[in-house]
Amino acid sequence: MPQIIDGKAISAQIKDELKEKVQRLKENGVHICLAVVQVGDDPASSVYVGNKKKACAYIGIESLSYELPAETTQEELLRLIGELNGRADVNGILVQLPLPAQIDEDAVIRAIDPKKDVDGFHPQSVGALCIGQPGFVSCTPAGIIQLLRRSGVEIAGKECVVIGRSNIVGKPMALLLLRENATVTVAHSKTRNLQEVTRRADILIVAVGKPRMITREYVKEGAVVIDVGVHRNENNKLCGDVDYEDVAPVCSAITPVPGGVGPMTIAMLMNNCVEAGSAR
Ligand code: NAP
Repeated sequence: MPQIIDGKAISAQIKDELKEKVQRLKENGVHICLAVVQVGDDPASSVYVGNKKKACAYIGIESLSYELPAETTQEELLRLIGELNGRADVNGILVQLPLPAQIDEDAVIRAIDPKKDVDGFHPQSVGALCIGQPGFVSCTPAGIIQLLRRSGVEIAGKECVVIGRSNIVGKPMALLLLRENATVTVAHSKTRNLQEVTRRADILIVAVGKPRMITREYVKEGAVVIDVGVHRNENNKLCGDVDYEDVAPVCSAITPVPGGVGPMTIAMLMNNCVEAGSAR
C-alpha cells in the first residue's frame, strides 16, 4: 500500500512551529495582525473565513474582521484596502474571493500593498516567484511543496506533471517545482494524449477541477500523486480530482481528500502572515 501523505498532521506541525515563533516575536514586542475582508455572505466563503480566523487565534495572530454587505461598491472596497495598506499595525490583508459581480477582482488584488499580500496573488508577488526573487507565494502550491518535503519525497531532478494552469494553483505550482529543480510539464484542457503525458510523471499534481477524473490509467507505477481537487460526490461526501480507490494501489504515495492538500492552504497563509510580520 502507498504512503498516505497526511496533510492534517503536517499542517498541525507547521501551525505549532508558527505558534512558537509568534510567541517569541511577541516577547520582542512584535505583534502580528491579519485583516480579513469578506464581501457578502456566501456560505462557503463564510466557512473559509471562519477557519482562517480560528487558525489565527490558535497561533496568536490578531485578526480584524471586515464583513461588508453584498452591495458594497468597488470604490468602497478599494477605500478600505487603501486604509489597511496605510495602517502600521496591520501586516497582512486577505480579501476572500470570489467577490460579487460589480467588483473587479484584479483591481482589488492589485490594490493590496505587495508587502501585505499574504495570499500571494498580486502581480508583483507572482513576478517575483517567476524570476526567483523573495515574495509571498500562493498558499496551496506552497503547501504542496511542504507536504512533499516533510514526507521525504525528493523533488530535484524528478519528472513532475501538473494538470491545470490556473493562476492560483497550476501556474505557481509549476514555478515552485522548477525552483526545486524538477523537470516540469504543465498539462491543460488542450493537452493532447493527456494519459501519455501524465504517465511520465514521478510526481503528479492534479488540479483539474473535475471530480475523480484521474484513474490509474493516468498514473505511472510508483508515482507520487497529489490531489488538489475538492468536490462533493453524489452522497455529499468530499472527494478529489483523483479516483483515490483506483489510484492508491499503483502509486508510492498519495494525498487523501479530505486531509491532504486542503489543511495545508491555511497553514501556509498563517506562515505568510508571520513572514509579513517578521519582515517589519
Ligand atoms: P480551475 O481554475 O478550474 O483550473 C482547472 C485547470 O484544469 C485549467 O487549467 C483547465 O485547463 C484544466 N482542465 C480542465 N479540464 C481538463 C481536462 N479534461 N484535461 C486537462 N486539463 C483540464 O481550477 P483551480 O482553481 O486551479 O482548482 C483546481 C481544483 O483544486 C478544484 O477542484 C478546486 O476546488 C481545488 N482547489 C483546492 C484548494 C485547496 O486548498 N485544497 C485550493 C484551490 C483550489 P484550461 O486552462 O485549458 O481551461
